[in-house]
Amino acid sequence: MTCIRTKTEKVFRFNEPTKIGYCCKMKMPIEDTVRHQQVIDELEKSLRPSECHRCWAAEDVGAESWREIGNKQYLAGQKKNDNFMIEVTLDNTCDLSCSYCGAGCSNTWEKEFKNAPEWAGKVHGLGNSSGNAKEDFIKKTLVEEIVRIIKLKKNIFFNIYGGETFLSPFLLNGGLEYLVESYYSNGGNNSIHIALTTNGNTPEVLAKKYIERYEKLQECYPISFNILISNEASGSTAEFIRYGLDYNNFLKISKLWLNSKFKEVHPLMTINALAITSLTNFIEDFTRLFEETNRRKVVILNPVYDPVEQSISVLDHRFEKYLNEFSSVLKQYNYTMYSADVDKLKNLLGTNTKQKHKLKTFIDYSRIVRNVDFSQIEPEIVEYLEEE
Ligand code: SF4
Ligand code: SF4
Repeated sequence: MTCIRTKTEKVFRFNEPTKIGYCCKMKMPIEDTVRHQQVIDELEKSLRPSECHRCWAAEDVGAESWREIGNKQYLAGQKKNDNFMIEVTLDNTCDLSCSYCGAGCSNTWEKEFKNAPEWAGKVHGLGNSSGNAKEDFIKKTLVEEIVRIIKLKKNIFFNIYGGETFLSPFLLNGGLEYLVESYYSNGGNNSIHIALTTNGNTPEVLAKKYIERYEKLQECYPISFNILISNEASGSTAEFIRYGLDYNNFLKISKLWLNSKFKEVHPLMTINALAITSLTNFIEDFTRLFEETNRRKVVILNPVYDPVEQSISVLDHRFEKYLNEFSSVLKQYNYTMYSADVDKLKNLLGTNTKQKHKLKTFIDYSRIVRNVDFSQIEPEIVEYLEEE
């Protein structure tokens, strides 16, 4: 039961009292170095460390786990042992409060919590964040990791998230430039690959500034950028799920990134229950943008497992037709896909239908507190949730 990710990835979450993980689906306190090694030992002995519970839950219902997706990518050559991904969650500064997110990653969710009615305590996203790390600590920790990877002679792939990455004070204050300069001044001599994930809601003037800054950075150093634009639904469905989003602005900002000089720009679709009817519309909108900008069509699919009520596992098999439709459109436009396989996603359907009342609570919260009625947007989903 080995997991290639333990040898090829490390995740730093600076948005909570700092935690690390061997992938984005698990975490451990940064200071508990004894447990860090025990988890690796347990995986190698085919035991099931509790920190990896999301993988075991997926595998127990026959869905493809994050571990299996990683191992598959390794066997297919998409993931290489001489590459090392450093994934970073910088802080919780974000202008959106997405349905499957929460205060830990979004200070907009955190602000909502301060004004939320008492009954809304059951809505998963609400809460207080446990605090962002200081910029100096982030710099020191990441430079130590960079030096460790240089010694291992592996190529570094940075995968950087916010909150909303481009609103993070660390990036606004030149943190990425500092990390790149530190790599080369500490003896790094390979190219660095940097993936930055954005919600595509950035003000136009800010997006343009970042494009200019990072195009300049890649003229000075042998680095390449991959911009991942996070969204999975279109129009008012997207604006409901990714609360605070202006979908038209999203399309405009996405096109700005697609027109930049960065090597890869493509969507990261977080497959969740509320988006299921809208996946095809979204990919058709993005296909038009790819075609207008002459870009290769690539998409990453990342299913939500947690919170469980936002996962497609709370839906039953009547929704399978939407995954079939989505799958055939991806094939029709010859998309290159990374991570989850759409046909295997179908195995999740129907495995957690008893939890659907929690999704209904979220819909009620949105109607009462945010004044947005999902039954007017996606009636089929709401009718299903209201069935006994
Ligand atoms: S959670 Fe899954 S993918 Fe992550 S380290 Fe554990 S087994 Fe590997
Ligand atoms: S854009 Fe990202 S960080 Fe912000 S609320 Fe949505 S999922 Fe969370």
